[in-house]
Amino acid sequence: MLKILRELKPFRFQVVAALILVIIRSLTDLYLPTLTADIVNKGIVNGDTQFILRTGGLMLAVAAFGGICSVASNYFASRSSMGFARNLRTKVFAHVEKFSLYEFDKFGTASLITRTTNDVTQIQMMVLMGMRMMVTAPVMSIGGLILAISKDAKLSLIFAVALPLLFSFITFVGRKGSPLFRAIQTKLDTLNLVLRERLTGMRVIRAFSREDYEKKRFETANRDYTDSAIRVHRIMSMMMPGMMMVMNLTTIAIVWFGGIRISYGEMMTGDLMAFIQYGTHIMFSMFGLSMIFVMIPRAAASANRINEVLETVPSISDPETANTEEQGHGHVEFRNVTFSYPGAERPALRNVSFSAGPGEVTAIIGGTGSGKSTLSSILLRFYDIDSGSILVDGVDIREMPQARLREKIGYVPQQAVLFSGTVADNIRFGREEATEAEIAHAVEVAQAADFVKSMPDGFNSLIAQGGTNVSGGQKQRLSIARALVRRPEIYIFDDSFSALDFKTDARLRAALKGETTEASVIIVAQRVSTVMDADRIVVLDDGEVVGIGTHRELLASNPVYQEIVASQLTEEEIA
Ligand code: ADP
Ligand code: MG
Repeated sequence: MLKILRELKPFRFQVVAALILVIIRSLTDLYLPTLTADIVNKGIVNGDTQFILRTGGLMLAVAAFGGICSVASNYFASRSSMGFARNLRTKVFAHVEKFSLYEFDKFGTASLITRTTNDVTQIQMMVLMGMRMMVTAPVMSIGGLILAISKDAKLSLIFAVALPLLFSFITFVGRKGSPLFRAIQTKLDTLNLVLRERLTGMRVIRAFSREDYEKKRFETANRDYTDSAIRVHRIMSMMMPGMMMVMNLTTIAIVWFGGIRISYGEMMTGDLMAFIQYGTHIMFSMFGLSMIFVMIPRAAASANRINEVLETVPSISDPETANTEEQGHGHVEFRNVTFSYPGAERPALRNVSFSAGPGEVTAIIGGTGSGKSTLSSILLRFYDIDSGSILVDGVDIREMPQARLREKIGYVPQQAVLFSGTVADNIRFGREEATEAEIAHAVEVAQAADFVKSMPDGFNSLIAQGGTNVSGGQKQRLSIARALVRRPEIYIFDDSFSALDFKTDARLRAALKGETTEASVIIVAQRVSTVMDADRIVVLDDGEVVGIGTHRELLASNPVYQEIVASQLTEEEIA
């Protein structure tokens, strides 16, 4: 909690200004009852109209001044708490960006979203309340008490009964409520999770007519959250009436006993009026103070959730001193690489060794689940390997800044992902400063020119969120163009040709050849026709390399490869 409040530092001047202004406001509030007492005691009793008008004018002026201070204080308090929240959100977001896929899996996207938004808001609200109450409440209650005692010490004994009563009531209610606040944040996570899945999985849900099921799931989560919120608010709603009751009873007691004292001539009417006002101030500030004590557990729960994110050290980080002794451009070497996904029982890749060089096409072939995509992920260092090493240009990728590594690579993922924006925007994702000619060329090579031209605005046609307005094969070709425009040293095509028909596949690979003469090309595929003319074919089977060679060599000697080929090609094609 305190750690997070350190984020307030850039706003310290605004915070101090807000606090000073709000203290001035409370002092004016404490001064006003004295003037009321004066008007009644000296003005009305003596029938001195002049005095009444003068003091009344002063009261107006003091009240107006207090009002201005209050507005100004709120302005600074709001600005600083808002700024604080903005910075905190930025900090959480920036930290989450450093997470490896492992940390994303650990927290879950929905929870990360809630933590960045709602949890920050909870703390922001507490900071705002704190600035309004934390300092003024003690000033008001202690100042009010002193003034009340100075007016009439005996009558002040009423507070000795009223204040403990009020305090125990508030703590009782607060104690009941605060554990529920913690539960509410987790339930909000669940609600977000269900909603996200519901929206992103819309097509599948419709296709399988699972709307009812999803609706129920959402309703359960929604109801669960609502019920907890209602329970909390039901408890909290006792606060105001209970407090008003204590306060009104106190006022009655003050009027009752004060009246008796006035009738004996031991107190003046004006003082009684001032006394009632002091009583209200004291009790209201007690109330404010205790509200903060109620809010603190809630904000603390949120602060913990945020700290959990901030304190998570990304499992993949840049080396402190980068090894810059790179040799050549686009050399890739796997040396006895073994990798298992976090929590997996068996390694997804075992003892994988092969190398790929510039100007060569290295193909990786293997059945579904043999570890082909995993191999691309670890080359990009989305995950760190268990043992062995991956060298790029002779340097272990763990000794290289991640940005440096990824700058060398043009990656076409198995699941093509496009972003909302124009076609050109999406391709520029590969390299921001790409010219129009370069984009057009990349699109040409990726065999995407025809359909881009046929789109209503050509390169400026809009791609919908998630790329839903282009087909799977079109998406793949655009993401190939995105990798091409980068002109990287290493290309990774992860099953990028699978959604293309044989003819387009062949044309694309022919066009690629001209583009990639100086780069290493790693083509992951399941189709033999895609890999046949590669310089080197690595055959993966269940996470292990079972053969490396050209099509001819493997066909002659490798049983796994022979099997794959037999299942796909006709006799003439093999020959
Ligand atoms: P391929 O691309 O060859 O079809 P993958 O590399 O995607 O295969 O998967 C290889 C193995 O790793 C599979 O057994 C799969 O279950 C497992 N796997 C893939 N991704 C993950 C992940 N994120 N977490 C845990 N296991 C995974
Ligand atoms: Mg795959």
